Amino acid sequence: MVSKYSKKSSENLKIASERVDILFFQADEMFSENPELSDRYVSLARKIAMKFKIKLKSEYKRRFCKHCYKYLRPGVNARVRTQNGKVVYSCFSCKKFSRFPIKR
Ligand SMILES: [Zn+2]
Repeated sequence: MVSKYSKKSSENLKIASERVDILFFQADEMFSENPELSDRYVSLARKIAMKFKIKLKSEYKRRFCKHCYKYLRPGVNARVRTQNGKVVYSCFSCKKFSRFPIKR
């Protein structure tokens, strides 16, 4: 038996974080066809994360520009390089940098 709807916040939280996963997945899928749609998915995912106070996974955080929130794809609309043990993304839209620790 599957209950149709639960008001329990933990259940909502689970659904919300699944939505975030799906949105980032779709942003990635859509990017080559329609990058504006990817931006929209990122913004939706951020809104959901904020509403439910979900911490975005670090792999998601580095997939969009933290200044203009555009979905970033290195080599297409962003450049990636390493500097002082950090990964630096430069966004081609707003020309700003986002720095992240290097992932191990
Ligand atoms: Zn930007």
